[in-house]
Amino acid sequence: MTKKRLAIGIDIGGTNTVFGFVDREGNILIEDRLKTMSYQKVEDFVGALFKTMGAAGRKIGKEYEIMGFGIGAPMGNIHKGTIEYSAALPWKGIVPLAEVFHRHTELPVIVTNDANAAAVGEMIYGGARGMRDFVVITLGTGLGSGFVVDGKLMYGHDGFAGELGHTPIRPELSDRECGCGNKGCLETYVSATGLTKTFIKILADSRQPSEFKKMCIDDINAELIFNAAKKGDKLAIKAFDVTGRILGYKLADVVSHTSPEAIFLFGGLALSGDFIFKPAKESMERHLLSIYRDKVKILPSELNTKNAAVLGASSLVWSVLES
Ligand SMILES: [Zn+2]
Repeated sequence: MTKKRLAIGIDIGGTNTVFGFVDREGNILIEDRLKTMSYQKVEDFVGALFKTMGAAGRKIGKEYEIMGFGIGAPMGNIHKGTIEYSAALPWKGIVPLAEVFHRHTELPVIVTNDANAAAVGEMIYGGARGMRDFVVITLGTGLGSGFVVDGKLMYGHDGFAGELGHTPIRPELSDRECGCGNKGCLETYVSATGLTKTFIKILADSRQPSEFKKMCIDDINAELIFNAAKKGDKLAIKAFDVTGRILGYKLADVVSHTSPEAIFLFGGLALSGDFIFKPAKESMERHLLSIYRDKVKILPSELNTKNAAVLGASSLVWSVLES
């Protein structure tokens, strides 16, 4: 009997690292996690990760064959297998992650950022199956993006292509400070954090009564704003509208760069449906050159499940094996 092939998808975040053993159809057979923050040295982290993955592997038995490791990590560089100057992780400077992995395994190790992993995941398991040109925008505390052009993920000459979140919206007019050191970056507006800031500003400027006016601003978050919008809160709906419009304006740029068939929105904010999709679509269409109009779909990611990051990371293995 031939063994069933599995890829291990690993999502490295600042707090936790989650991994899963995933088959080609996108079923996660087993999943586990460890605390990234507990390991000050990357060697100790990878050692502990292999121990935990080994224990998980023994649970699923011997009918399986591992084909490789796909890793999504902030500032992951596919060309070099490194993580470079990530502010989110405990390891500083240039971290040779794939090299450290290869002290434990001879299998392929593919490292890229989480948004690129999400884009490959969309292509292998999600709504972009069969598409040659599309873009995935990940909306969480920040904004990430992965571009697929002519069936291939676009990495650029240095491995960092497509950092849309750090392109400015209105650099001269905005005082919104970004974690990258610049002001007015897209992600300071279009992300869970950006929506919250926009909402607080709208709230402060408005004379309308609102249940939020009694709240401490530190307690206001995107989820509460979404719940208020669903109940018809005009200020909450306006915050989504502003956020969606800024996104759409930027998507019009994106369309002219790579002419995608579709743009997928992924992550927490993408689950707020028409509150974000409608203004984004309207604004994108309004700013598009006429040759592109009414041709580009904005769609919710089909990977919007709790395991999406692991699925996306595992899909990197299939994309390399099958290319
Ligand atoms: Zn920035």
